[in-house]
Amino acid sequence: MKADVVVVGSGIAGLTAAALLTRKGKKVVVVEKQPSFGGSLRQFKRKKISFDVGFHYTGCLGDGEVLDRLWHYCGVDSALSVIPLGVEGYDRFEFTGKPDVVRGYFSYEKIISELKDQYPQERRAIDTYFSEVQRICSTVPFYHTQLPLLPFIRGYKARPTSLIRFLDSITHNEQLRAVLAAPAFLYGVPLQQASLEVHALVAHGYYSGAYTVAGGGQAIVDSFLSVLGTAGAQLFTESSVDSILVEKGQVAGVEIEGGEQIRCQHVIYTGHPATLVDKIPAGVFRPAYIHRLQGLKNSLSMFAVFGKGDRSFDTLKGVLNYYLLPDRGDILPENNTGPRNMRPMMLTSTRTAPLPQELLQEEQNGIILLRLGYWQDVMEFEKSAPADRPEKYERFKDEIAAEMIQTAEQRWGDICGNIEPLAVGTPLTFRDELAAPEGCAYGAMHCLDQFNPDVRTRLPGLLLSGQSTLMTGVAGSSISGLVSAGEILGIESLWEDVRR
Ligand SMILES: Cc1cc2nc3c(=O)[nH]c(=O)nc-3n(C[C@H](O)[C@H](O)[C@H](O)COP(=O)(O)OP(=O)(O)OC[C@H]3O[C@@H](n4cnc5c(N)ncnc54)[C@H](O)[C@@H]3O)c2cc1C
Repeated sequence: MKADVVVVGSGIAGLTAAALLTRKGKKVVVVEKQPSFGGSLRQFKRKKISFDVGFHYTGCLGDGEVLDRLWHYCGVDSALSVIPLGVEGYDRFEFTGKPDVVRGYFSYEKIISELKDQYPQERRAIDTYFSEVQRICSTVPFYHTQLPLLPFIRGYKARPTSLIRFLDSITHNEQLRAVLAAPAFLYGVPLQQASLEVHALVAHGYYSGAYTVAGGGQAIVDSFLSVLGTAGAQLFTESSVDSILVEKGQVAGVEIEGGEQIRCQHVIYTGHPATLVDKIPAGVFRPAYIHRLQGLKNSLSMFAVFGKGDRSFDTLKGVLNYYLLPDRGDILPENNTGPRNMRPMMLTSTRTAPLPQELLQEEQNGIILLRLGYWQDVMEFEKSAPADRPEKYERFKDEIAAEMIQTAEQRWGDICGNIEPLAVGTPLTFRDELAAPEGCAYGAMHCLDQFNPDVRTRLPGLLLSGQSTLMTGVAGSSISGLVSAGEILGIESLWEDVRR
């Protein structure tokens, strides 16, 4: 088989790159190792309830914002119903051992006013924080699409300003610090390692407006698959790329597990960069580059309970997600030594979209609980495969689910009632289901002392893409798909077309 470009992985980065390339007439093949497409955006069903794994909400989908433009250019927007959570929408922050509630609105004006009402002594700190976030993002083309892309991409570096030090310099109010730091939950970096610049890049998207999509992540995946199918791209599941073929010092194709080869001039690899190393012939990458890819520090992981509450609640009516944060100290500690039930936790409903009447009954009681998880929590089971987990691991999972449900029922029982667990995920589940080393929820960390790899590699024709490169999340990974496709098509001209 032959193609111009083989895209390895069908998460949002791979699907975006593939759609842009086919739109420009390239012959594209997408290969996915899992039985279904979509990577972290795939949904699964239990008791007729569809559960999203890696998509609850995103920024950047407002009129003319970067994801809105990108989806329009890719031709997927007409099949998608984007739901703005509105200026009245918010994440509800609560604190262990305290009755206080803070509304984290998806609007600069409203969140600033809420925080000033809650913490009147801290008005100056609040102004400083939000103006700093806006200042940092004022030079970012993804937020200001009139700016050229290339200078930003080539000059992009995680500049070393510590988020913690910045917060120290503006306030000592622990609760306010927890609320300001909370967006770090959306890129999975312990606060000690978080950089103000990355924090601002992620948080600004949500402070500017949050959105979800009817049908969740699966609807996004399906609309890309439909566009790609119509454009003649070839798409294969259960096809794990085992090696990248190299001839005369450049990419010549890929080899799929089982031996089939696809010849091509370009490969875009969207898996975790550390997993690329054993797919490249010896001697192609320099030892220092190999060392760098393999030594990438990973983002934090999570425990997840997918369940059914015995009451229904509609997250679109105001509160989107319920967060329980430790009321003091670091909300995202570096290691797992503290008590598990003090770790931050989130509750959300599967009912984040208006649904047809017949689905309402089933979907409206779906609950997702997410709690911070560490690879160290499950390391003793790392050698086991999904079909072959030891009894002890199953007991550990039950224990974790019971703890999370207990916390949720104590806190939010009046909203969701009693929760029946239908599926439980751990860092091990994420490792095996999402091909995520150490179960990292957001790929390689975008943090203070780590330069994430450039999409260009040392091997001509081989590009990286996905959440471990430029930025994480649905918006960040989509943008990385744009940049990788741009390296083949011409970055600035593609950017021009997309934003036109
Ligand atoms: C629990 C959780 C909640 C999240 N919530 C949100 C949210 O609300 N909002 C948000 O914006 N982001 C959220 N995220 C993050 C977001 O889902 C990801 O950042 C984004 O989807 C990553 O996309 P990607 O294409 O880079 O990678 P992935 O989606 O991981 O896709 C990579 C694909 O490559 C495939 N692959 C890897 N190696 C090979 C190979 N050798 N051969 C073939 N295929 C291969 C994998 O199977 C996978 O399908 C969440 C993540 C998690 C885990």
